[in-house]
Amino acid sequence: MTQRTKLLLTPGPVSVSYSTREAMLTEYSSGDVEFTDNLRHARAYLVSVANGGADYTAVPVPGSATYANEAVIAALVPPGRTLLVHSNGIYGDRLAEICEALGTPVAMLRTGPFTPPAVAEFAAMLDADPAISHIFIVHCETSTGLINPLEEVAALCRARGIGLLVDAVASFGAMPIDAPALGLQAITVSSNKCMEGVPGIGWAIVQRKALEAATKPKMLALDLADQAQHMDRTGLFRFTPPVQVLAAFAQACREHAAEGGVPARLARYQANWRRLVDGMRQMGFRAAVPDQHASPIVATFHNPEHPAFDFDTLYQGMKRRGYIIFPGRLALANTFRIGCMGAVTETDIAAAMVAVAETMAEMGVTGLGRA
Ligand SMILES: *Cc1c(COP(=O)(O)O)cnc(C)c1O
Repeated sequence: MTQRTKLLLTPGPVSVSYSTREAMLTEYSSGDVEFTDNLRHARAYLVSVANGGADYTAVPVPGSATYANEAVIAALVPPGRTLLVHSNGIYGDRLAEICEALGTPVAMLRTGPFTPPAVAEFAAMLDADPAISHIFIVHCETSTGLINPLEEVAALCRARGIGLLVDAVASFGAMPIDAPALGLQAITVSSNKCMEGVPGIGWAIVQRKALEAATKPKMLALDLADQAQHMDRTGLFRFTPPVQVLAAFAQACREHAAEGGVPARLARYQANWRRLVDGMRQMGFRAAVPDQHASPIVATFHNPEHPAFDFDTLYQGMKRRGYIIFPGRLALANTFRIGCMGAVTETDIAAAMVAVAETMAEMGVTGLGRA
């Protein structure tokens, strides 16, 4: 049904359905009703998934999700104020890099990669620096698969009158995020990842009130408020839109709804993750993130300490069998990652576990035992 050549079991880009890719075979004019309907549908659907109602709006930023993160920071952190960035992985680090590029003062809270931070650490940072106006956290840190404590940090922000920005790029669509209940100012989302459209648009779901108070950033293409105002007024992008990507995204939104929305997608990913982690443990692999802190989007495994194990050989053996897996990031040497997001089912993961077993046998890695 999915008619794919390879299955991407990666932290992104992730595999998407054939019907979503098929939506890109049509020509679309940027001013035509077919396109503007898709745009309106996608914007409204994202706001509804965030339970945003009339208080939130969804603004597309062509590019990858980093473009949306950059646009959000530039628009929402007022001049002269400081952004508290939490990082326990590469995506948190990237938020800080954006601040450096924009000249936005940043207070950095770095914590270890395999356990979530304590809210008291955020509170202490706020106590120490009254210039902090906003906190930006990564909900699911894709470089490890760890879930960060969104609800607890949101409660702190509400209590302290701090604006909360959330990089939900690897969680939105699969994990429930109630923007008004949490009091979020902005959520960033990828057109790919858990929403299962093709990559190419970073979305910002923004509190209207916060966007109306936005600073005019020193950038044109990534000016979020300008994009939103223009789109609300005309129903169009300011510049040439990624018409095929948007068409695929609108289709992905329809498929998300048809599957049963966030609860159904979460259930499918959880089944994938369970099958993955159980299957790998049975072969003797060890997961890096404790189960209670792990998100069902990607899992990180330690390379087994066996003289015959070689990640590149595992990678190539998996690729020959139709599965793409992912190395660990450099700072976490001797780990690798296998994703559970995208148009992937438990049956796919079960077949991938057979492929891992075959490749390990080929490599001569035996007797790892049960971890
Ligand atoms: C994928 C991802 C991003 C965006 O990365 P891009 O390279 O811009 O696609 C940001 N944050 C998280 C948590 C991600 O998983």
